[in-house]
Amino acid sequence: KDFRNDIKPNWCPGCGDFAVQAAIQRAAANIGIEPENFAIVSGIGCSGRISGYINAYGFHGIHGRALPIAQGLKMANRELTVLAAGGDGDGFAIGTNHTIHSIRRNIDITYVVMDNQIYGLTKGQTSPRSAFGTKTKSTPKGSIEPSIRPLELAISAGAGFVAQGFSGDLAQLTKIIEEGMKHKGFAFINVFSPCVTFNKVNTYEWFKENIINLDNDPDFDSSNRSLAVQKVMEHDGLVTGIIYKDSERESYENLVPNFKQTPLIKQDMSLSREDFTSFLKEFE
Ligand code: SF4
Repeated sequence: KDFRNDIKPNWCPGCGDFAVQAAIQRAAANIGIEPENFAIVSGIGCSGRISGYINAYGFHGIHGRALPIAQGLKMANRELTVLAAGGDGDGFAIGTNHTIHSIRRNIDITYVVMDNQIYGLTKGQTSPRSAFGTKTKSTPKGSIEPSIRPLELAISAGAGFVAQGFSGDLAQLTKIIEEGMKHKGFAFINVFSPCVTFNKVNTYEWFKENIINLDNDPDFDSSNRSLAVQKVMEHDGLVTGIIYKDSERESYENLVPNFKQTPLIKQDMSLSREDFTSFLKEFE
């Protein structure tokens, strides 16, 4: 299947978001889903444009609110493969509450955070992912706040799938997104996606020198949550690969009593008052 469309992205040349777009397109093709059964919901930021650049249903939402929309979509039509995408400002500032509760709730969607550790669209301010001491237009003397820690946050919120990729490694990123989309529950994927225009510290070269690829660690076991947290902390969050996976945890929709396999959008909703009363009784 071809998930490309004819819209030319207006990201800066070299932006890490190009690789995220390509990885999602390749992952969707590898899984074998149809474009008409794939929906991408995005937030606001440079990353938010991604929903328009892939041949699938696209919904460019509001800042920090991609996840509620994506979850609603999945609950209304569980036959859709639903992916939410946004930046670190979207997921770890204005939308942090949705990130935590979506992870905890475990509806079967994939969430890709395009983490460039800065606000790119508004031309380079400190984000919740900027490191302590980062100098930007909004913190000219250096940030006095430490960065939020996405992987520990996701694991402690109860995630059944936690991974981290890097735009400089398209093969691994594709594999991670593919596994996340196949996972039956909420999949949290943070991606180091360099902003080549405004972040002159966390560059492709910097990541290549500093990240540890856990795929190359024969002793690492992604089903061991304690080990996952230990590895993440040991390397100060600079790890890539599938960090933690719990294949046993049931997704939210599978736990809703009497939630039908037939998608809501395909059910006859023209109920009389009597029908509606008996419909409600199914949930008692
Ligand atoms: Fe990408 Fe940064 Fe340009 Fe935005 S400003 S498109 S994040 S390189």
